[in-house]
Amino acid sequence: MSQNGIETVVIVGAGQAGASAILELRANKYEGKIILVGDETHLPYERPPLSKDVILNPAETKIEILSEQKLADLGVEVIRGNGVVKINSEAKTIDLQNGDCVAFDKLLLATGGAARRLPNFDALGKHVYTLRNLEDSQALVPVLQAGRRIVLIGGGVIGLELASSARYKECNVTVIEQGPMVMGRSSPRVLSEFLLAQQRLAGVDVRLETKIADCKLDGEEVVITLEGGEELRADAVVYGIGIVPNAQLAIEAGLDVDFAIKVNENCQTSNADIYAAGDVATQLRADGEFRRVETWENANLQAGVFARHVMNVEHPVENPAWFWTDQLNINYQFVGDMAAAEWLVRGEINPELRQESSFVLFGVTDGVIVGGITVNAAKEMRHLKKLISKQAAFEADKYLDVSQDLRKLVK
Ligand code: FAD
Ligand code: NAP
Repeated sequence: MSQNGIETVVIVGAGQAGASAILELRANKYEGKIILVGDETHLPYERPPLSKDVILNPAETKIEILSEQKLADLGVEVIRGNGVVKINSEAKTIDLQNGDCVAFDKLLLATGGAARRLPNFDALGKHVYTLRNLEDSQALVPVLQAGRRIVLIGGGVIGLELASSARYKECNVTVIEQGPMVMGRSSPRVLSEFLLAQQRLAGVDVRLETKIADCKLDGEEVVITLEGGEELRADAVVYGIGIVPNAQLAIEAGLDVDFAIKVNENCQTSNADIYAAGDVATQLRADGEFRRVETWENANLQAGVFARHVMNVEHPVENPAWFWTDQLNINYQFVGDMAAAEWLVRGEINPELRQESSFVLFGVTDGVIVGGITVNAAKEMRHLKKLISKQAAFEADKYLDVSQDLRKLVK
């Protein structure tokens, strides 16, 4: 069977983008062979619960994206626990860890990223953790016990979500962030201040603009010396200081890589038969800039772009980028441009309300709504998405008036 001259699509990486690519290929009527190659022993699973439900509620949390039965129904050949070690671009084959060689007509690199390392902490050999995969998350379950002193390095999404989970487990938690804001890479200042207030109200000791001078083991304790001389003693340290894209295969294959794998609007790399999607890819966007987006939604969307391009199907109009985080029983959702010039609040920002808080933020640049954030107000998110897509002019008297129904204003 050959469709568009394609008999075999090989997907490297059995994660979010890899799983989604399978569904998108079949949804777009691809009938040829699909081979999914993963280095993990698991079938594809969701990562968002790893910092939240897998730690808090391991027995009841289901994370599998595609079951063995579903993969069989979709006609997918699955190779797991056997990573790809080399791409032979000319021969259009890949080499696997066990020495096998697999041929492809189209190849998707969906290899994600790995936790950026702190070698001085890794060198301690014990009581130091990172979080990227299921085993990492499961390893934290026995570590996060009541009364334990947990130091989290990095006040990004991992740091704050883990701080939340660790507080539910009644740990004593300290977060060390080198920058001036928590979630500074993905959140505007107004929300960052709210996030910080929530953590502090929950008893988390958050240290901003704090640098680590040294670390060592003292028996079963990790001793962290801060610049300035203060010593923190911890039973365990978890660091989340960003990721490094798993782009080594692409680099060695001579593909165009700039920290991440560079792809065009169709998710094609510099080799037209090799695509990349998800955390590992930096994509040429409509504004002419390359951007990498490390979110669940982006992995799914790029998998769709790949599948449609393989099948010669036009892409729908892009929606503004969206992601979420859950912390301390508060749901936060973000859409569009977080670098908007100003942020205006609909409702009340009162950190003391804690999990009873509920408000919406409008991000406005040059009078136009370009970004939005909901805090415990998920039902308003689709209206924000519409307003951003329509490039709606911001009208304070309408949008900030909570007595007016946002749904009706959006029409
Ligand atoms: P992954 O899902 O990481 O999949 C990549 C796969 O490729 C992995 O299985 C990897 O082992 C495999 N692989 C790597 N190299 C090879 C090789 N050589 N051969 C074969 N296989 C290989 N996003 C949100 O929007 N909201 C959230 O709340 C959220 N929470 C998160 C919580 C945690 C703890 C983490 C880690 C991430 C979270 N994310 C969240 C981000 C989101 O999960 C990622 O953006 C998404 O998983 C990226 O998908 P991906 O397919 O690119 O990579
Ligand atoms: P991140 O969101 O990029 O945040 C890393 C944070 O660590 C930044 O605030 C950074 O500060 C800080 N940092 C860097 N080096 C440091 C150091 N030496 N000491 C102290 N702080 C330091 O990365 P992450 O939290 O590690 O998350 C990793 C991945 O998981 C990302 O892909 C993320 O998207 C994903 N994830 C997503 C979610 C979600 O979307 N809800 C949840 C969990 C994980 P500077 O910015 O100042 O460098």
